Amino acid sequence: MKRFLAAMVLLLGITGCTAQPEGYTADFFAMDTFMSVTAYGADEQASEEIAVQCERRVNELEPALSRTREDSDIYRLNHADGAVCTVSADTYAAIEAAVQYAELTGGAFDPSLAPLTDLWGINTDDAHVPRQAEIDQVLTRVGYQNIQLLGDNQVRLLGGAQLDLGGIGKGFATDAVAALLDGSAGVLARLGGNIGAYGENPGRESGGWVIGIADPDDNADFLATVEVRGLSVVTSGDYERYFEQDGRRYHHIFDPATGYPADSGLRSVTVIDQSSTRADALTTALFVMGLDEGMAFCEENAIAAVFITADKQVYTTPQVENVCSFAFLGEEKGYAYAQ
Ligand code: AMP
Ligand code: MG
Repeated sequence: MKRFLAAMVLLLGITGCTAQPEGYTADFFAMDTFMSVTAYGADEQASEEIAVQCERRVNELEPALSRTREDSDIYRLNHADGAVCTVSADTYAAIEAAVQYAELTGGAFDPSLAPLTDLWGINTDDAHVPRQAEIDQVLTRVGYQNIQLLGDNQVRLLGGAQLDLGGIGKGFATDAVAALLDGSAGVLARLGGNIGAYGENPGRESGGWVIGIADPDDNADFLATVEVRGLSVVTSGDYERYFEQDGRRYHHIFDPATGYPADSGLRSVTVIDQSSTRADALTTALFVMGLDEGMAFCEENAIAAVFITADKQVYTTPQVENVCSFAFLGEEKGYAYAQ
């Protein structure tokens, strides 16, 4: 694990500021992805303490949310054959949130689709397009209604359902990091595609944090930026995890209705929200819904979201201008801001 004192290169690049005070960055790998937490505390030691504390909390949550680690609660639950399991308070809270967003999105977000992700082998050496009969068979086991929350940290999975919290786990961890902070330090947490920007950014006069929204074809570059404070910015995109077969791309966000990667005409969805857990669940769900249904959902629920479509349009929901300042940068890349 590598830790170093640094001013964030990316942050400097997109804020265009000069003398950034030194913070402390903890770089680490967790939940299958690269993460970093940069803290700007009262002094160097305080910065280091905060960043390391955040890293420790994420590492502590990893076994609470993982389904692949055989010592994890989710693994035990997924292999309990319908028996009641007692899980940790963190695991219970994450499952409870996942079910809440499954209900809110009418199942576009569905945390019970582990049998489907396993069948497709996404993220393994065995990633492949399954036969339709196999997809039909596993879909009979997918359905968040099969998750029973019984109180007192007790959970039961019915009908062969198995949990996959991959669509919400990093958001849950980002909120856990935010809960450690009291606002006195500036903290930028990057947990994969989940970003939390808290307290004041000392490198910018406004105190805000400028976060880039990636170009789906070149995620080192941005199509837009949002300037936020005390918020999380979460993106789900088809370019994050995928495999190719017979010239077609199959990505990791599944439509629980078809059992196939969502083919909704979107390349990415970004949600800006106080709750990173909500933003994480909703980016996945909105990607499945597609532009029209997703925009309507966001208007109804006052969600700030940015949609990037396969036909190179960028859309923002009305709530965006209420929570952040948005800048469109995609013109040179052939994108249009459709507002
Ligand atoms: P995200 O990057 O947050 O969109 O999460 C994608 C991950 O969530 C995938 O790798 C799967 O583990 C899981 N997932 C895929 N499709 C869905 C879905 N429709 N609902 C809930 N989780 C999903
Ligand atoms: Mg998500």
